[in-house]
Amino acid sequence: MNLVALVAEMAAAGLDAHSDRSLAPLTTYGVGGNGACVVKVSSTDQVVAVSEILRSHPGVETLVVGRGSNLLVADNGFDGVVIVMAPSSTENAVTVDGDIVEAGGAMLMPVLARRSVGAGRAGLEWCVGIPGTVGGAIRMNAGGHGADMEASVVDATVLSVRSGQIARVSAEQLGFYFRGSALSNSHVVLSVRMRTTEQDSAIGTTEINAVVAWRREHQPGGRNAGSVFVNPGSGDESSGALIDSAGLRGFTIGAVSVSEKHANFIQAGEGSTAADIAAVMSHVQSTVEHVHGIRLYSEVCLVGFSEDLMTRFSHPSHTSEPHVAAKKNLQSLLGEPA
Ligand SMILES: Cc1cc2nc3c(=O)[nH]c(=O)nc-3n(C[C@H](O)[C@H](O)[C@H](O)COP(=O)(O)OP(=O)(O)OC[C@H]3O[C@@H](n4cnc5c(N)ncnc54)[C@H](O)[C@@H]3O)c2cc1C
Repeated sequence: MNLVALVAEMAAAGLDAHSDRSLAPLTTYGVGGNGACVVKVSSTDQVVAVSEILRSHPGVETLVVGRGSNLLVADNGFDGVVIVMAPSSTENAVTVDGDIVEAGGAMLMPVLARRSVGAGRAGLEWCVGIPGTVGGAIRMNAGGHGADMEASVVDATVLSVRSGQIARVSAEQLGFYFRGSALSNSHVVLSVRMRTTEQDSAIGTTEINAVVAWRREHQPGGRNAGSVFVNPGSGDESSGALIDSAGLRGFTIGAVSVSEKHANFIQAGEGSTAADIAAVMSHVQSTVEHVHGIRLYSEVCLVGFSEDLMTRFSHPSHTSEPHVAAKKNLQSLLGEPA
């Protein structure tokens, strides 16, 4: 899609917008092609300005990018508008009011954890292990160390770039499920309010240090997007254990390997392509299904790939009845056309 005119409109409105920009540096995998239009926003006013322009270009697809730590962008890129959340604005601060900790959508999760602990609040220490933004964590219902976003979120302020409406959306309306929510690509999380409890900062700091140490010991560094496959249902082994016992630890295509340290991580070495990452994922999925009779689905968001490939990796819960109903509710709450 030729979005040059749209980019020009955005630039004329004072926005930091560019056509045909590489998305690779915006993701932790560091692979992928160009976004047809890439606009960096660092305040609510700028997101509103983007949304105003987008409403006169109704057919254009959108993608919000936080830290890109859960994104695999295809080598062909994304043929739409990429809204990049820049964590520089004062609107992205962390504030504490009684039990409630509020953070901007572009706030980094480790910063949220440390600021919340510093303010004598408990409940968000685990966030130090998530190398993404608060907005991305809401969309994904990120979790770890026995907690997840759903457990703390009171509500989120969300803007629809399709309708231009901003609403405070309750945790229930956010429709959380395991590693997902009712949010879709037209929704921008501007801020989030979370419930916390009182705690001595020294206790919280010890907990933060324990989470960081656990991550260092159990997870690889380098270019990856964390766990690739969602763990199967309760009673089954973890995806990492299933991949490991299928003999796939270290399996490599090109510069892309199943991590030796954690079999549910895929490492992208120098010169990797998104196609090679997808090929490793496909091989892992079919081998695990062949060996264990269990189908694994992607936890990582795939962007710009063929419908077939997206469907192959899409978890059935994305299209389950309650999830589809929650999505429709949220769309209507935000005044989006059906
Ligand atoms: C080393 C490593 C370890 C990880 N460990 C964990 C873990 O323990 N648990 C876990 O759950 N995840 C983990 N992850 C994955 C990832 O960090 C989380 O999913 C994180 O919440 C994604 O945030 P992000 O800002 O990077 O989102 P992105 O990757 O940029 O985007 C992910 C999704 O969120 C959407 N999105 C991003 N920002 C916004 C916004 N402001 N408003 C609306 N939608 C938005 C995007 O459109 C996309 O659909 C790990 C990743 C890495 C690299």
